Amino acid sequence: MPIRLHDSLTRSLKELKPAQADGVFRFYNCGPTVYAPAHIGNFRTFVVNDVIRRLLDLEFGPGKVKHVRNLTDVDDKTIKRARDEGRPLAEVTKQWTDKFHADCDALNCLRPHVEPTATGHIREQVDMIDVLMKKGNAYRAADGSVYFKVSSFDGYGRLSRVKERELRPEAVSALSGKSQAVDADEKEDATDFALWKAHKPDDGANSWDSPWGAGRPGWHIECSAMSKKHLGETIDLHTGGVDLLFPHHENEIAQSECCNGREFSHHWYHSEHLLVDGKKMSKSLGNLYTLDELIAKGFTAQTVRYALLMGHPRKQLNFTLESLHAAESALNTLRNLRKSFKTPTPAASIDRTAFDPVLAALKDDLNIPAALGSLFTIVNRNDAGTDLAAFDRVMDTLGFKLELPEAKIEIPQDIKDLAEKRWAAKQAKDWTGADALRKELHDRRWVMFDAKDGYKLEPLKR
Ligand code: AMP
Ligand code: ZN
Repeated sequence: MPIRLHDSLTRSLKELKPAQADGVFRFYNCGPTVYAPAHIGNFRTFVVNDVIRRLLDLEFGPGKVKHVRNLTDVDDKTIKRARDEGRPLAEVTKQWTDKFHADCDALNCLRPHVEPTATGHIREQVDMIDVLMKKGNAYRAADGSVYFKVSSFDGYGRLSRVKERELRPEAVSALSGKSQAVDADEKEDATDFALWKAHKPDDGANSWDSPWGAGRPGWHIECSAMSKKHLGETIDLHTGGVDLLFPHHENEIAQSECCNGREFSHHWYHSEHLLVDGKKMSKSLGNLYTLDELIAKGFTAQTVRYALLMGHPRKQLNFTLESLHAAESALNTLRNLRKSFKTPTPAASIDRTAFDPVLAALKDDLNIPAALGSLFTIVNRNDAGTDLAAFDRVMDTLGFKLELPEAKIEIPQDIKDLAEKRWAAKQAKDWTGADALRKELHDRRWVMFDAKDGYKLEPLKR
């Protein structure tokens, strides 16, 4: 059964397959802006993309997938952070890149094969802008900035269905969720977007030479240039969170297709946002969580991964602390099941097809809730003859690591007492009390894994 995934451009389910004769599937996923810790909303997108990557590896074989994810290490936010902290840009972005990697590792996200940076690809971006200038798709404004001329590309708006009249700056801002500073004096048309931003005093030392003067690349051109450099002119799949559909991906298509004269990506996939307690995450609402904040509450990164995968990726997912409790208990059930598999099971009694529906659901537009539903149907059947290798394959595709350290560890009495108190609070459905005790255990570097009929204490690994 092939993998079928929703394509945002045609709004239909399309089969994923490599287009080029070498059989390599070319996959580009827009990466993070490295100026602060990524929040769990960002990680919903990256964890969903990790399941896509794992599914592609399973389908085409690990050597036959090339996965590229960029790092946005120069833009208004990164420069502002460096300026506010009085530090060099490269130092700030390295700090947050390292943190992003550590969080991805904890969440068991596979590293992409190439992780290019915007600052490492200035030459490639300048080259693309140069071609766009020569082809008449771009123009230099008086201040030395270069803009893409939206009216020069007939296909503009195909991805987002944004109509000409909706391309006014207010609508662009509203749709993109980002403020689009429009300098009417500089642009020929308000809908045109920056390919190259002329140096401004606020940019400090963060500027590069170009044929149009000193400055830095705009945000959109980096993905067009890095995708071209590492995957070629046409790729098989391009993904990101839904907020990137417009204008970021619409602009990427315009730049790449005008520059290269061919289709940019065969397939576009956008996953929906994570809400927290039913609301958009924001610092002012106090509902913006980082992975560290959830770990400090005593949850493991694996539990967070599971919770981020509890909904259909193309639907908004409401994240609550209760969902972490549910994720934890589901993971424990799977852990116990893994232990209960008798190895070796007599070959004749192994049901080699038992887990097929789980993978089939994943291949059917990444229907993770249906996949987890059929997984738990099998779990509840309690069928000891089920195929262990197939179970491990399913866990691996979902990226769940079930193994726990086996070594015997002495648990101090006061930790045991705290755990008992927390268990009692949980039995009494006193979630606030239970969470507070979990935090206390966590501060002492212990984690409690709950099951239906008891719990297990483990020293904190991270
Ligand atoms: P950024 O670092 O802002 O460029 O975002 C990195 C990725 O996170 C992008 O693919 C965004 O679409 C995605 N993203 C941002 N906010 C959320 C959210 N609340 N839920 C899910 N994904 C998000
Ligand atoms: Zn991008």
